Amino acid sequence: MNNSTALVTGANKGIGKEIARQLAAAGLTVHMGSRDAGRGRRAADEIDGDTRPLVLDVTDDTSIADAARQVPHLDILVNNAGISVDGRPATEADVDSFRRTYETNLFGVLAVTNAFLPALRRSASPRIVNISSGTGSLSWSTGPEPRFPPEGSSAAYRSSKTALNALTLFYAQALAGENFKVNALAPGLRATDLNARAAASDGDPAESAEGAVRLALLADDGPTGEFFSWDGTAMPW
Ligand code: NDP
Repeated sequence: MNNSTALVTGANKGIGKEIARQLAAAGLTVHMGSRDAGRGRRAADEIDGDTRPLVLDVTDDTSIADAARQVPHLDILVNNAGISVDGRPATEADVDSFRRTYETNLFGVLAVTNAFLPALRRSASPRIVNISSGTGSLSWSTGPEPRFPPEGSSAAYRSSKTALNALTLFYAQALAGENFKVNALAPGLRATDLNARAAASDGDPAESAEGAVRLALLADDGPTGEFFSWDGTAMPW
């Protein structure tokens, strides 16, 4: 995969930056998406290898089109950019915070994926990894793991990830005949700017990134249309 090219959205910090670091360490050319040019440049400078900052706001059609023009060939797209702005249950949440959350976590993925599809179709083995969340699973609470956060909270964020999971399946099905592998990843609870509730002891973003890189570098006989935890185990939808 050493001649391969990847794009990671929201790569200027957190889990996305770790994914970019690991893909660059594997010898790939990595376009590091960031909605802020300065933060993106600084993040790319901090990583060894062939990293290229790319201004990309996943909620801005013009920004997406400009970015797509700069990347004519792509092997791997990691839809990582995400926000969590409202911890309330649906009974207390407002439509605006749902809209804002969906703009980034769902519509952003749709817009970016479709804009980069022509570039991905030039790859012999295109891969799409959607960074989802275990909290978006509708059935995980029936498993052995305790569900986090507590039932009902963060309805906007969690339902955006449930919808992202559905989108993952739609892309996997639509692109199955073209050697695409499209999968979703639950990166685990990690202490990043997005998740103030997590502690460093909950886990290392580098481990989440390993899970994403595993899906990004899947062989042609690898799975598609699946949902995995960061450690490679299957997640229920
Ligand atoms: P961070 O807040 O550290 O990173 C989020 C990244 O997304 C930042 O680079 C941020 O950029 C970027 N971003 C946000 N909005 C946009 C936008 N409109 N356009 C482009 N980039 C944008 O969070 P994490 O690293 O934790 O999150 C990464 C992914 O992992 C998310 O999809 C999140 O939902 C998922 N996740 C995280 C969990 C955790 O416990 N941390 C658990 C489950 C899932 P900027 O710096 O400009 O804000």
